[in-house]
Amino acid sequence: MFARSIVLVLACALAAPLDAQTSAPATTLFQNVRIFDGKAGQLSGPSYVLVRGNRIERISSTPIATDRRADTVVIDGGGRTLMPGLIDVHWHAMLIRSTPAQAIAGDVGYNNIAAGAEATDTLLRGFTTVRDVGGPSFGLKQAIDEGIVAGPRIFPSGAVITITGGHGDFRQLSELPRTIGGPLSRMEQLGGSAVADSPDEVRVRVREQLMQGASQIKLTAGGGVSSPHSPIDASTFTEEELRAAVEAAGNWGTYVTVHAFTPEAIQRAIAAGVKCIEHGFLMDEVTAKLIASKGVWLSPQPLPEELRQGFPAGSVQRAKADEVWPGIARTYELAKKYKIKTAFGTDVLFSQALAQQQGAILASLVRWYTPAEALVMATGTNAQLLSLSGKRSPYPGKLGVIEEGALADLLLVDGNPIENIKLIEDPAKNFVLIMKDGKIYKNTLPK
Ligand SMILES: [Zn+2]
Repeated sequence: MFARSIVLVLACALAAPLDAQTSAPATTLFQNVRIFDGKAGQLSGPSYVLVRGNRIERISSTPIATDRRADTVVIDGGGRTLMPGLIDVHWHAMLIRSTPAQAIAGDVGYNNIAAGAEATDTLLRGFTTVRDVGGPSFGLKQAIDEGIVAGPRIFPSGAVITITGGHGDFRQLSELPRTIGGPLSRMEQLGGSAVADSPDEVRVRVREQLMQGASQIKLTAGGGVSSPHSPIDASTFTEEELRAAVEAAGNWGTYVTVHAFTPEAIQRAIAAGVKCIEHGFLMDEVTAKLIASKGVWLSPQPLPEELRQGFPAGSVQRAKADEVWPGIARTYELAKKYKIKTAFGTDVLFSQALAQQQGAILASLVRWYTPAEALVMATGTNAQLLSLSGKRSPYPGKLGVIEEGALADLLLVDGNPIENIKLIEDPAKNFVLIMKDGKIYKNTLPK
């Protein structure tokens, strides 16, 4: 009995803070806030925002009269900035805290619990939505959506679909040859990536992800830096194979995004009907013009230098990184020059320390953009990319903006991030309130 009550006390002690923070008020009223709405480059005047359930119900420049029910939470913003929750459209929720070996060969339960803890940290960094572009995140997403663990909204792709030897094929050479229709490799059993070598196989793999709830499909159209066997210059899927994926996703009401660096890989993907290019770091002027003219999305990342240096000197991966990194700045310059629809993501992999820099990586966009442009990109613009999922969006409603009727994902910032974007580098200090889906997950304002 005694032991049992200790267990209960411990359980309550652990659960209490989260329960207290996640209790869902029917109504929250933000008073005296200045709004960055995810669209305009400046703050509003003093404003009042009423959230009911999981939606923003009313925005007003004059005080909003509300029923003073006991479950109405009134937040005195004190002139602080209210902004939409941040969005990262290139995230791998299952591949942050583990090592590559742990992700493939480690215990699945452990990996999921570690990913859950990282998801909570992600939310508490102010990222209320992520687009997961590869990894078995369906279970994590379900646990978050059910309130079992605190985390961001996840737009899952499921397994990255690759060709034999392509980016995302992390098999050992000893696992070859593959028999089509034969046993799956470990990484495929886990749902991390899926190998497909014909249009028919691509269709099967795409449909398997859609069946599990993928909101979009991710293929690798060319070689990658971190994969052991794919040269950077290689174009991998044929146009016919890419078109099979686009058709299967389109029939399901959604779209395909591809990992691609080179002009050839990008152009082939666009010809096949792909709607979004990840990275694009080796593109040229002709390709940039094509992306712009076709209205295709570009999803580059301001990858930090320490990531390049993380690949051991003299390794194949380091040589590939050295080839790709100079293209990052050029890609952003081309994206600006040709007014390409550009999204923001980080592509943090296998590093909890780097994940903690998620806001700092966003702030580093000021190399090419004003703080207001960077913040619009990571909120309202990113949400437009997410909306390509159409009815396959797991979260019907508007994200990334503060407007009446939109989903209530909100950050209260102690200061003006448009004047000082460095505020988002220290979310623990400067994001004094974090709300997702109308629920307050953090509130450090004095009571
Ligand atoms: Zn990635």
